[in-house]
Amino acid sequence: MAEGFELPKRAMAIFAHPDDAEFGCSATVALFASLGVHVTYCLLTSGNKGTHDPKMAPDELERIREKEQRDAGRILGVREFVFLRHGDGELEVSMDMRADVCLAIRKNKPDLVFTQDPWRPYQIHPDHRVAGWSAMDGVIAARDHLFFTEQLHRGLKHHRVPRVLLFGTAEPNIWFDVGSTLDKKIAALKAHVSQIRNPGVLDRMQNAARTTGQAWGLEAAEGFRLLELG
Ligand SMILES: [Zn+2]
Repeated sequence: MAEGFELPKRAMAIFAHPDDAEFGCSATVALFASLGVHVTYCLLTSGNKGTHDPKMAPDELERIREKEQRDAGRILGVREFVFLRHGDGELEVSMDMRADVCLAIRKNKPDLVFTQDPWRPYQIHPDHRVAGWSAMDGVIAARDHLFFTEQLHRGLKHHRVPRVLLFGTAEPNIWFDVGSTLDKKIAALKAHVSQIRNPGVLDRMQNAARTTGQAWGLEAAEGFRLLELG
């Protein structure tokens, strides 16, 4: 655990594709879950274009990848899954997307959000940029009652998320000791059977976590940019 870091009660990871969270933050997700944090995954797409198989139909791939995501999440201790099912590779920063993310936050009431760092330099995947922006914009919209007022009925209230952990960041400012959960990260990555065609990537992820940990005298670590929103 990062020293002095107060665990949230509820956390939500908001990201573009099935497997993004496994690559970016899953050892920490597993650590939080093992300590009693209720974790929800919110996926903007179900990765329905992530294949090189010319015979694979997008709706079939969506079904396969949602199952893989649930399997991976279960290994980590993720309790809930929200699939927004926007088109893979077609994400745009829009008010509709912001409203979708805002609604997911208001329903799930996380007190910490994990998402992809939209400020990361040279992030070439448009979906990864959009996921980060949409998560941040959704966090801001969710907290005030005059944003998306049509959502605030039948008991649903505005909701303030005080902290965000950006993953895939070039400028980490907090590191979590994941020596006890690195194995779960690798097992969760393996659950994405349709995507992990080259097992070398598993070794690279393991080595990266160990190298990050070495700087802090830890067996393994994951680094994030922590934003405290007050
Ligand atoms: Zn992705």
